[in-house]
Amino acid sequence: MSLENPRTHYTSQIDPEKIGDEKVTVCGWVHEVRDLGGICFLVVRDREGRAQVTLVKKKIDKELFDTARKLVRESIVAVTGTAKPEGKAPNGYEIIPDEVVLLNEAESPLPMDTTGKVDAELDTRLDSRFIDLRRERTTAIFKIRHEVLRSVRNFLSDEGFIETSSPKVVATATEGGTSLFPITYFDREAFLNQSPQLFKQILMSGGLDRVFEIGPIFRAEEHDTRRHLNEATSIDIEASFVDHFEVMEILENMIAYVYGQVIENESASLKNLGIELEVPKTPFMKIPYSEAIDIVNAKGEEMIEWGGDLGTVAEHTIGEYVFKETGESHYFITDWPTEIKPFYAMPYENDPLISKSFDMMHRTMELSSGAQRIHLHDMLKERIESQGLNPDGFDFYLRAFKYGMPPHSGWGVGCERLVMTMLGVENIRDTVLFPRDRKRLSP
Ligand code: ATP
Ligand code: MG
Repeated sequence: MSLENPRTHYTSQIDPEKIGDEKVTVCGWVHEVRDLGGICFLVVRDREGRAQVTLVKKKIDKELFDTARKLVRESIVAVTGTAKPEGKAPNGYEIIPDEVVLLNEAESPLPMDTTGKVDAELDTRLDSRFIDLRRERTTAIFKIRHEVLRSVRNFLSDEGFIETSSPKVVATATEGGTSLFPITYFDREAFLNQSPQLFKQILMSGGLDRVFEIGPIFRAEEHDTRRHLNEATSIDIEASFVDHFEVMEILENMIAYVYGQVIENESASLKNLGIELEVPKTPFMKIPYSEAIDIVNAKGEEMIEWGGDLGTVAEHTIGEYVFKETGESHYFITDWPTEIKPFYAMPYENDPLISKSFDMMHRTMELSSGAQRIHLHDMLKERIESQGLNPDGFDFYLRAFKYGMPPHSGWGVGCERLVMTMLGVENIRDTVLFPRDRKRLSP
């Protein structure tokens, strides 16, 4: 693209001491126009911050002054001029303009306020995400989400994982159940995949040894909660020749690394959100399932029998217990009953009623599930059948276990829940640009 005045700097990059009289051009949105008669302040906003443009009527061209004064908020402009130190302006400088080019005028009134002064409803913000993103708070969340994904990729690549992608259009359910979105695939019925699980495991037989995938998962469950989406982003790993303890260690180290990177590289965004982040201490506490239900039952609010799943209230009770004991928010619940974990979780040899499985929890919700997997064909087939599933539908998967499948383990972490718990965001929809839930299919 060739604009007449190409951008030279983001607003955050200008240091008047360093650039002296060199001309700068900033491009962005008209955040505010304050016309005081003899002087007019135009505040231009871009992704990285704001710049004050100061126009003194007596000192500049009348036409330029009038253009600036009449700008409609949120219009697109390119401002060229000289930067001067100004302690009271954002970033400590003001621009004395030679030229203000109106590139695209915005309509008025706006569908919603962009200053953050008026708190709009979540639905209003999501309907107009393009406007919502102009609020510093919203941009900060998505910059941090980017940093989370960037550092996850970094960490896992350094740990020897290969990034892979699995199909999202599939013929079979991953874990059975009914929580799938059916779609029409030419003349056949297909589904949107709920997890890359089966494909990751096939890659272990293929010898890729350690793989990760960051991709969408689709869940057709009709939840209406603050922590469920119908389309989420899963960070998934699978690793050969390691047990569940080793992948738990990779997981807690990854969480600590990601927090550290966000603190290091997104300090301005954290400041915008008013958050002081601390790196969680590793290793995370490990509580076996049987002790976890004892903690819940001791509190007496609800009674969970061995073999029962842990609901939201139980998760909170255990989370508070861990927080009191350790001062930390993250912990593992390990050794779950085999029956309530997916068919591919490996039972303990000496006690097959429990499995080498774990959930990684945050004080407020589940962040991840993982396990050592069954790598033995006959045992796996038997587990599929005993969960009431038809092994024929799993033929493409089971074949991979017949001709040299190493022992392996893995986990999946919800990206949105990771961001949400890190930033104390109340609703998961705030961590996705265009969330999909039971009611929302557009934009
Ligand atoms: P929950 O019990 O909280 O609904 P789950 O046990 O069904 O979660 P898993 O199948 O174990 O979820 O998926 C692994 C991780 O993926 C979860 O721990 C969570 O972080 C994330 N995840 C799963 N389903 C959703 C969803 N519907 N919305 C957002 N994140 C999800
Ligand atoms: Mg789970």
